[in-house]
Amino acid sequence: MVVLRDLVKEYGEADVVHRILDGVSTRIDRGEFVVVLGRSGSGKSTLLNLIAGLDQPTGGEVHVGNARIDALSERERTLFRRRCLGFVFQFFNLLPTLTVEENVLLPLELCGMLDIHSGQAAKELLADVGLAGRMDSFPDRLSGGEQQRLAIARALVHEPELLLADEPTGNLDIETGEEVLGLLDRLVRNRGHTLIMASHSSRIAATADRVLQIREGRLHEYVAGFQESD
Ligand code: ADP
Ligand code: MG
Repeated sequence: MVVLRDLVKEYGEADVVHRILDGVSTRIDRGEFVVVLGRSGSGKSTLLNLIAGLDQPTGGEVHVGNARIDALSERERTLFRRRCLGFVFQFFNLLPTLTVEENVLLPLELCGMLDIHSGQAAKELLADVGLAGRMDSFPDRLSGGEQQRLAIARALVHEPELLLADEPTGNLDIETGEEVLGLLDRLVRNRGHTLIMASHSSRIAATADRVLQIREGRLHEYVAGFQESD
């Protein structure tokens, strides 16, 4: 599903070049739930943004499905994101002027998939995340956990090949975070989605099929019990 080959990402600041990713290679299979673990500033968001085609690597290759993302034009990358990806962010990124239902329908609209069945699909998905009665509410009326459950419904409505979640529990209290994590885990497994989730907490790692740890710009298979980032 995802193949990364010798991925390098550098940022230049004044005369100094910071190498954030220093030759990252891995492959993630369809249907896998992978956690990318690392401390704050280790390059987790950078890695996810490269996989999403939101940012261009300094070197190396990013393959998602049959597409080589780093070789696409900006326009092609936008279309790829709309059709093939779902995103869940730490700060929810919901649209405040749209209702709950409209937020969920937006990805379908953006990739031209809105049709007479969409309303029913949105309704079922919102029921699945426990927001059946909140279709006409606005996001600012929802609690943090509810907002993130809405964001999860929005990320899945167009059946993306790949779901990327960047610290999705980072802005929630522990209990709510665990609830959201459980929901995400259940939904992606039931629907067979591939999930890559960034986190700084090794507690989260327990739910994943595989944990990759970013250290000094490289990815390492995580060894349980090594609690560097907690
Ligand atoms: P994480 O998500 O693991 O906390 P990030 O991927 O956001 O880490 O950032 C990794 C490093 O790259 C940090 O040191 C950050 O300051 C740096 N960085 C991220 N984006 C930029 C940018 N646009 N320009 C310069 N440096 C950046
Ligand atoms: Mg980050």
